[in-house]
Amino acid sequence: MRKRIDFYCPHCKTKKRITINDEYNESHIDNLLDRSAFKIKCNKCNQETIVDYNFCLKTKSYSLSYGELKDVDRFTLTYDDFKEKVLIFEDKLNDILIELMKKKLNHDLNTEYELRYDGMNDKQLIFYSIDSNESYAMNKELYDYYQNKYKTDNVKDVEITSLNFDKYIK
Ligand SMILES: [Zn+2]
Repeated sequence: MRKRIDFYCPHCKTKKRITINDEYNESHIDNLLDRSAFKIKCNKCNQETIVDYNFCLKTKSYSLSYGELKDVDRFTLTYDDFKEKVLIFEDKLNDILIELMKKKLNHDLNTEYELRYDGMNDKQLIFYSIDSNESYAMNKELYDYYQNKYKTDNVKDVEITSLNFDKYIK
């Protein structure tokens, strides 16, 4: 839905009314990931700013919000979390099992890194650690094994994180 909101340019403090879109679909994914969907150019000082507001992404296969909005499969509270979930769902993976993969990776490395899913190839899932600034690959076979072994709850309106994912696994 398109909405009109007040925008204050952080550079020159000029106030103006802008139109924002708070519901996106699959055609907007690239613009959401590179944040170009949120760029506003001030017509007084010409500086570009990223506008921060809550929105949801609704595709044919999943729904996701940035900010705690209702009637979505998942909500996320940070922009990096939002991006990670898009990558996970676009690759048709289960975010609860991805958290389980991260836990296993931390166990294998004997670390407690904050890990983010960062894509896949034919044989591997790639995780990135903000703490070590490195990428790690895990066998896709392990993911398939988890998928066969465990059932995950079909929950909605939740934030799935490394702290709570295990309560949705049976
Ligand atoms: Zn300005």
